[in-house]
Amino acid sequence: MSKRVLVAAPRSFCAGVVRAIDIVEKLLEQHGPPVYVRHEIVHNVHVVRDLEARGAVFVESEDEVPEGELIVLSAHGVAPSVYEKCAERGLQVVDAVCPLVSKVHAEARRYAGRGLKIALVGHAGHVEVEGTMGEAPESIVLVETPEDARNLEVEEGAQVAYITQTTLSLDDTADVVDTLRERFPDLVGPPSADICYATQNRQDAVKRICDEATLVLVVGSRTSSNANRLVEVARDRGADAYLIDDETDLDPSWLVGHETVGLTAGASSPDVLVDRVVARLAELGFGEREEVEITREDVVFRLPAELRS
Ligand code: SF4
Repeated sequence: MSKRVLVAAPRSFCAGVVRAIDIVEKLLEQHGPPVYVRHEIVHNVHVVRDLEARGAVFVESEDEVPEGELIVLSAHGVAPSVYEKCAERGLQVVDAVCPLVSKVHAEARRYAGRGLKIALVGHAGHVEVEGTMGEAPESIVLVETPEDARNLEVEEGAQVAYITQTTLSLDDTADVVDTLRERFPDLVGPPSADICYATQNRQDAVKRICDEATLVLVVGSRTSSNANRLVEVARDRGADAYLIDDETDLDPSWLVGHETVGLTAGASSPDVLVDRVVARLAELGFGEREEVEITREDVVFRLPAELRS
């Protein structure tokens, strides 16, 4: 009997990633290459390579873009200082920041404006965290773990607020936020969770497939925060789990001893890669594909006005 593959849904692109890629594609069409993009537009090597082949030029800093040229800012958001530097260099900015990241930036500005100390729950070095911290560097402290929360230094009488990176695991943030709340009973938080709908849905779907799958493959690049979290969520549920960029990363020895394999993809991974992994799994004896859908997503973010046509 063929062994099974449970394919989680929702998986792959979220609305923020679709919008960011659409922006670069539209600009390539309307403006022609080169279209400079600050940082990987989304954290996926296949997406980046494909856009590069069509004329996108990825840079890590606006300083690398010739004066007066067009620059797209990635889905992860940037600090206000980046907009200022772009303006100084006369760059034409098209902002592909995800509206849900913009919401976190707005919370940071609001809390800082009220004089609150802000604990940003996130991972050091992630580009989204760097952008959010840049909104109020004097007020924001990065808190990665419950231990960081216990050690957070706050001036006598200061009130504390928290915000979070959009792509963390719900369980990780819950531990940190609970610790903050124990220390600061009047902790202020955002009106609704910062963990975005796409992150939450993909994690919930992985939890569901882990009811049956003993091995979970997550399609995503190492730089993708939300894909890495999916691996962690699967491992927390007791499954073996691996992050793979595509089917060529799949090591057949991982499959030994498993009857049911779970498969998902991070929010920046194209779904075509999932199909390629499914085909490879079929060659390796896992020929029965079953979709496990926990909810349907219908979120769409509109393109900037100048690109709608
Ligand atoms: S993962 Fe969430 S926050 Fe990030 S781009 Fe997608 S919708 Fe936006």
